[in-house]
Amino acid sequence: WIAAELAGMEDEREAEEFDAGPLPVVAVVGRPNVGKSTLVNRILGRREAVVEDVPGVTRDRVTYEASWRGRRFTLVDTGGWDPDATGMALRIAEHAQIAAELADVILFVVDATVGITDSDEAVSGVLRRSGKPIVLAANKVDDQRAELEANALWSLGLGEPHPVSALHGRASGDLLDVVLDALPEAPPQRFGTERGPQRIALVGKPNVGKSSLLNRLAGEERVLVDPMAGTTRDPVDELIELGGQTWRFIDTAGIRRRERELQGADFYAGMRTKAALERSEVAVVLIDASEVLTEQDLRIITMVTESGRAMVVAFNKWDLVDEDRRYYLEKEIDRQLSRVPWALRVNISAMTGRHVEKLVPAIERALESWRTRVPTGRLNSFLTELVQQTPPPVRGGKQPKILFGTQAAVEPPKFVLFTSGFLEEQYRRFIERRIREEFGFAGSPISLTMKIRE
Ligand code: GDP
Ligand code: GDP
Repeated sequence: WIAAELAGMEDEREAEEFDAGPLPVVAVVGRPNVGKSTLVNRILGRREAVVEDVPGVTRDRVTYEASWRGRRFTLVDTGGWDPDATGMALRIAEHAQIAAELADVILFVVDATVGITDSDEAVSGVLRRSGKPIVLAANKVDDQRAELEANALWSLGLGEPHPVSALHGRASGDLLDVVLDALPEAPPQRFGTERGPQRIALVGKPNVGKSSLLNRLAGEERVLVDPMAGTTRDPVDELIELGGQTWRFIDTAGIRRRERELQGADFYAGMRTKAALERSEVAVVLIDASEVLTEQDLRIITMVTESGRAMVVAFNKWDLVDEDRRYYLEKEIDRQLSRVPWALRVNISAMTGRHVEKLVPAIERALESWRTRVPTGRLNSFLTELVQQTPPPVRGGKQPKILFGTQAAVEPPKFVLFTSGFLEEQYRRFIERRIREEFGFAGSPISLTMKIRE
């Protein structure tokens, strides 16, 4: 039985590893009401209430993992942000610019029944200049008659308009085929032995010092030419050499840009963070040590945890913390980060340069944990001993047994326990803690699931 389960898992693991690494990002852009959210739901293959969204209110989930014909990609829905009427065309264009920067492919949605508006024109201009592949969707083409209307969209100068009905699903498969064709090839380093530069997402709420830290790290060693980009546009990421290694800092264009005053900036900040995490292997979360930890900080930490990336938490502006407060602050931080006790921590000052050199070793350590694979033999002798010392609690008069354990995945590490009965949540947490004590995994999330033999 276990052998059969394992054989199945082997396939899963292979599939997972083949697909590992960052997924290409498809951003859906367009002015309000053209049907972006409807289209996103159509692509995701479900009918989720779009209406619950209050216009202008930040929606939490904006990026989704989608797949079509076996190809996975990240879908970014920009429909949750709704500008007000004043200066709308301009604002939409600004937002399209941000979306264009973080996406690999832009799915530009226009309402074919309305035709081209000023906003559509403005967005087209921005998208054309971005140099990114654009797929033009002529939405609300609910029947053949309406297809003629779609033809009018040729004049946007973005190539062929693809008629679709997001609401009824008409031609949505054809549209996705076109999107797939426009996706970049998977980066070659995933399949060879040579790995490209490791990817770091530098995240944190506005004003914590992301761009200051980036400047400090870049210093003299900043590499200006990105050999991977190979296009004329400004590099979105920067390659920086640190500790004798080249690192790719994700979405530095977004970090360096001042878009704080932009309406809906929070919405885009969240989206950027998620997109950056998608493309990274390790996240450095910046927190302002001179202030109390805010909801926003915790939300970002949650995003990182959910993304499954390795994590280093850097408390910045340590220079502003009084000498005699430091000890208490450390204690306070321990308490606040109790949900992620495994995250590696450094206290730095981007301004003075204090302890910034500790960042790279922490990042390296976190990545090492993230990639660690515990040999099955070692894991099982450890489990045997653990169960002998502390057997699982009896449940319904029966003592569940752990028959066998294996690490099914890395990046991040995932463990599977084959059991003869249900293991209580508390006991699973206990095992997880003991695994960490035994094998390390500092700086990396790990997961533990059980497969119960029926
Ligand atoms: P968003 O603001 O761009 O995200 O637009 P929504 O997805 O919220 O859609 C706006 C309105 O257009 C809703 O009432 C949708 O039901 C409607 N709609 C979306 N797609 C279609 C379509 O393909 N055909 C028709 N007839 N209506 C659509
Ligand atoms: P970002 O929005 O996260 O990119 O933050 P910035 O790098 O723009 O920094 C916001 C403000 O915090 C600026 O005024 C910086 O000078 C200041 N700042 C950044 N790092 C430090 C630090 O380590 N110590 C102090 N005292 N100020 C800092």
